[in-house]
Amino acid sequence: NDFLKISGLCAQIDDNGTPKEILRGLDLDVPKGEIHAIMGPNGSGKSTLSYVLAGREDYEVTGGSAHFMGEDLLALEPEERAALGVFLAFQAPVELPGVNNANFLRTAVNAVRRARKEDELDAVGFLKAVRAETKHLHMSDEMLKRNVNVGFSGGEKKRNEVLQMRMLRPKFAILDETDSGLDIDALRIVAEGVNSLRGPDFSALIITHHQRLLDYIKPDRVHVMAKGRIIHSGGAEVALALEAQGYQQYLEAVA
Ligand code: ADP
Ligand code: MG
Ligand code: MG
Repeated sequence: NDFLKISGLCAQIDDNGTPKEILRGLDLDVPKGEIHAIMGPNGSGKSTLSYVLAGREDYEVTGGSAHFMGEDLLALEPEERAALGVFLAFQAPVELPGVNNANFLRTAVNAVRRARKEDELDAVGFLKAVRAETKHLHMSDEMLKRNVNVGFSGGEKKRNEVLQMRMLRPKFAILDETDSGLDIDALRIVAEGVNSLRGPDFSALIITHHQRLLDYIKPDRVHVMAKGRIIHSGGAEVALALEAQGYQQYLEAVA
């Protein structure tokens, strides 16, 4: 596998002056075209992993490596990672008062196009592209005129996230869906968005503790994460076993 390869990844955060180790030697391989899920108890470091992969600066990588399509991902700026085709959907989408949703999206799309040495979309070209997507998603264009995520319902935020993802056409999407309060409709929106992109040139890492999400997105592999490491990997049956028996069996096995 030379698509996404993470080896021995260690990362910490500054916890009021004391370094706190969160990722403790994490190994993970995601081959091209596959959808993988990570499930794990609260506090195991799932969100930290997605932030480190996206390049959020408050986390310090203290060991290990992450390569994406042969590039040292951890050495790249967040924008360079996005240009390579890495997309991170945030667990709690940021609200940006005063920032128009359409302008925000166009800026993001054009930043990626510039980095890929593609022509930027002008206002007309962008509108055409975005309307095709909102139509596909059964989204009202009215959402484009609002401020980013401000006053959006949970479902609308998810739809907006899927819109961002479809507009950016990532090669690899990381979706952190750990947040509680995701109702079944929101889960379906995310699942349909991911499934609509499924193909040989699209991979994703779905981080969730909702087994139900994996009823809609059939993962190629399921990884169990605990205490900053992947402690077990298997097929879709792992999600079912987790639902039936919980994490204890895997935690005991590595204890
Ligand atoms: P998960 O997404 O699996 O619930 P997180 O990555 O959010 O786990 O957090 C892993 C651990 O790191 C938790 O114990 C959490 O409290 C801690 N942590 C995360 N961010 C910070 C932070 N900014 N300061 C201190 N501790 C943090
Ligand atoms: Mg959490
Ligand atoms: Mg989390």
